[in-house]
Amino acid sequence: MEKLSNISNIKSILSRHGFTFSKSLGQNFLINPSVCPRMAAECGVGEGVGVIEIGPGIGVLTCELARLSSKVVAVELDKRLLPVLEETLSEFNNVKIINDDALKVDFNELIRDEFGDMPVCVCANLPYYITSPVIMHLLESKLNIDSITVMVQKEAAQRICAKPATRQSSSITVAISYYASAQMLFTVSSGSFMPAPKVDSAVIKLTINKTPPVEVCDEALLFRVIQSAFAQRRKTLANSLSAGLQIDKSEISGILKKSGIPENYRAEQLALSDFAAICNALRGRA
Ligand code: SAM
Repeated sequence: MEKLSNISNIKSILSRHGFTFSKSLGQNFLINPSVCPRMAAECGVGEGVGVIEIGPGIGVLTCELARLSSKVVAVELDKRLLPVLEETLSEFNNVKIINDDALKVDFNELIRDEFGDMPVCVCANLPYYITSPVIMHLLESKLNIDSITVMVQKEAAQRICAKPATRQSSSITVAISYYASAQMLFTVSSGSFMPAPKVDSAVIKLTINKTPPVEVCDEALLFRVIQSAFAQRRKTLANSLSAGLQIDKSEISGILKKSGIPENYRAEQLALSDFAAICNALRGRA
């Protein structure tokens, strides 16, 4: 098969299939030949390892993953790409394409059915309009996997990889840190895609925590506390938590005191352990 990162090859394959790009599905295909081999090399695939890809497009990353791993299962929403993938992946017998919405897929069931006991990792160039929902869907599913390596917009990567309790941190930084440790691998310029998006991208790796770094009595409550605190991040915690959780401000002040956190702090000053302390104190309230 001709090189799938070569622009004229891509154009000829796509025109043969009468394919036009859908902006609303985040279809920016990689044309920089160095990116996919690097992602595949860093994501943890190898002999005896399976990999899940989300959004294979025309299969440029899928080919690299298929070469290095024992099995690739790729979930693609756009059914117009199925005949394209059939052609571009014809040399591999270890790739399965599932035509579905990644946000609706039960990945635990997929892993059980497709990989059995094989170790599995996730590697994908994500559609940017659903970056956070896809990552949270994968993490909340508590999959038996070691890591998730994904390309996302550079700004999103910086937010995800920020250290909690710094100005760059946000609700997604803290939420992800409950499930995984995030690492920035490398950046990718906008010119590496066809069509070129307006912003640069970056590849990040989330290494899944074997056990959560904090103990909480109620995970759903922890995430509500994080969301509420950051929803009005310029406000003090006493105000943002009172508004977000709909609890009287005087009661929130008592909860913060019990948790050892000054009530005039703002969300960006808190570590995951502080959010856990608030969550546990809230649970114990009369
Ligand atoms: N992997 C290819 C590459 O690197 O060139 C394509 C990446 S492109 C940024 C994102 C891909 O995700 C597209 O193929 C798009 O059709 C697909 N996609 C969009 N929304 C999806 C969803 N909800 N579930 C699964 N795939 C989706």
